[in-house]
Amino acid sequence: MTVDPEQPDPSALAEAARVLRGGGLVAFATETVYGLGAVATDERAVAQIFAAKGRPASNPVIVHVADIGQARSCVVAWPEVAEELARRFWPGPLTLVLNRAGRIPDIVSAGQPTVAVRAPAGNVARGLIERTGEPIAAPSANRSNRLSPTRCAHVLADLEGQIDLVLDSGPTAVGLESTVLDLTGEPLRLLRPGPISSRELESALPGRGLVLPAAGESVERPTSPGRMAVHYAPRTPSFRVDSSEELARISDRQGMAVIAIGAGSVPLAPPLTPVFRLETPDEASRHLYETLHHCDALGLRSILVVMPPDRPEWHAVRDRLLRATRPVASSE
Ligand code: AMP
Ligand code: MG
Repeated sequence: MTVDPEQPDPSALAEAARVLRGGGLVAFATETVYGLGAVATDERAVAQIFAAKGRPASNPVIVHVADIGQARSCVVAWPEVAEELARRFWPGPLTLVLNRAGRIPDIVSAGQPTVAVRAPAGNVARGLIERTGEPIAAPSANRSNRLSPTRCAHVLADLEGQIDLVLDSGPTAVGLESTVLDLTGEPLRLLRPGPISSRELESALPGRGLVLPAAGESVERPTSPGRMAVHYAPRTPSFRVDSSEELARISDRQGMAVIAIGAGSVPLAPPLTPVFRLETPDEASRHLYETLHHCDALGLRSILVVMPPDRPEWHAVRDRLLRATRPVASSE
């Protein structure tokens, strides 16, 4: 169903809410990426999310709420730090991990005693949650280990036939998954870098320590060596280099798409190499998945990413790229 991103048709939202309350699955846009939603308190509905995505039961999903009040209903305690962060960043791309209330079933949290909650921005997501009247569990609407979707077409390419309804409100505004912050211990721990940077979090929490994940080691990086070298990746073999000089040393660029990220990287553009440029962190955040999806659809031999500099403002984009690509040396 097509809906306006700013003023979604109330009858479309009502229909989607009806599907959710009946135990169905609805894909919808948040400001980050498209999510695959089910009522979070409905264990059977949430099980269908895992089945549709082929998601391992060990990977918990985020619960989306309309406001602080609904977030509080999902957790056993709502500490002052959660209140401060939610007031500052919600609705928005910040997910808070807290101790889970009994009404949220085990399956949502992969059996852990915690739950991840956030209030997404965007009138479609907010309107849908409000109308449903229940928190909505919603991981990204892609098959497990594939790229996150930023458009309806990406959702359908992966999941058509497995979901009851998709609300198509066009491309998402932010384009990268939310920042995930664990508030259950001291110091606070950043589990996944994202659109809300560690600097913004630190400035909102003066005097509190924040532990950052090592590069490429956010929660979605498998902690034990996985069977696959690359996760959350395009189907096309995808590699990374740190500079355009390194790119220049690759002599055979036939059938290779080049994505140059960061203003400093100016790669060669031989005639047979499609080159995509994403110059600023905002631009890269918004268009990274879209560009990867596009390159993947070209059916080329490989995708080569020139990495942005290892600086704080690029942390979230680098995190996703480290999981979507392999170092170029490993292709040989
Ligand atoms: P996705 O919704 O597909 O972007 O993935 C959800 C992310 O949130 C994954 O990285 C999960 O590991 C993380 N997450 C969800 N629930 C929890 C939780 N209770 N504790 C820690 N991380 C969580
Ligand atoms: Mg995901």
